[in-house]
Amino acid sequence: MQIMQNLSSHINYLTPYQETDRPILAAVTGTRSTLLIDAGNSASHIQLFIDQLVKLDISPRWLVLTHWHWDHVFGMNQANTTIIAQTLTTQHIKEMQQLSWTDEELDRRVEEGTEIAFCADAIKKEFGEERDILLPTPDITFDRKLELDLGRVHCIIEHVGGDHSADSSIIYIQEDKVLFLGDALYPNIHVTPNCYTPATTLKLIQSLRKYDADTVVLSHHAEIWDAERFEQELVLLERTALLVQNAENDRDSTARLLQEQYGRELSEYEQETIDLFISGRAMEAHI
Ligand SMILES: [Zn+2]
Repeated sequence: MQIMQNLSSHINYLTPYQETDRPILAAVTGTRSTLLIDAGNSASHIQLFIDQLVKLDISPRWLVLTHWHWDHVFGMNQANTTIIAQTLTTQHIKEMQQLSWTDEELDRRVEEGTEIAFCADAIKKEFGEERDILLPTPDITFDRKLELDLGRVHCIIEHVGGDHSADSSIIYIQEDKVLFLGDALYPNIHVTPNCYTPATTLKLIQSLRKYDADTVVLSHHAEIWDAERFEQELVLLERTALLVQNAENDRDSTARLLQEQYGRELSEYEQETIDLFISGRAMEAHI
C-alpha cells in the first residue's frame, strides 16, 4: 500500500513498495511548474501518483530520471512530461528500447547473466501477462549538471555516479534543503556478491557532502533521513572505504579497526557494510 506524503511546502511524494520494488516518486512544485522525480516501475505506478497529484491540482511539466534501472523508468511513457536524463541514462534507455520483457526473454537474460533474477522476478510480479513497456528517448540529456527554476523553487540536478549505477544523478531542492539520492548510496547489486568499491564510494561521498541537506530521500527507504542520519551513513561508508583501501587490512582487521574508531561493538549493518567493501576489493582484483 503506497500513500501520498507531504515532505515540505513544495514537495509531495508517494511512498515506496517493496513487493514489486517500486521506488519513491516525488513531485517538486514551484509557482510556475512541477518536476517529477523518477517515472516509476510501470504505467500503473506513475498513474497512481499522477491521480493523487490531480487531486492536489498539480500537473507536472518535467520529469527527471535518477538512473536507468527499470523500476525508475518503466512508467516514462505515461508521464506526459518533458523527460530529462543524464547522458549514460539516455544511452541505457536506448539499449533497453531494443529488449523484450516477456518471461522467456527475462529468463534467458538471467541465464546469460545480462539481467539479475531480483529484477526479473519483480518485473513479473509488477506486470501481468500484458507487458506494455514503452520507453521513449528522453527529451533533454545533460552530462554533468542542470539547474531548473520551477518558480521560487530551484532544483540542482547533478550526475554523481557511484557503485549502484554509474549514471546516478541527485536532485537538490535549494529552498527546502532536500536532497533526493535516488539509489546512488546503495551498493552495486548487479554483481554477486553485491559490493561497494572504495575509490568510487569516496568520490561519491565528496560529491554528496557539497550539499547542505536537512532532509535526505533514498528511493527504496520508507524512512526519510535527517542530516544526522545522512552524515552517520557517510561516515560509515567513508571509514570503511578508507580501511579497505589499504590492502594490508583483511576483513578481520578492518572490523577491528572500525570498532576501535567507533569505540563500541559494530552493528550487524556495519558488519555487512564491511563485507560489501571486501567483496568490491576482491572484484576489482579480478578485473
Ligand atoms: Zn537502482
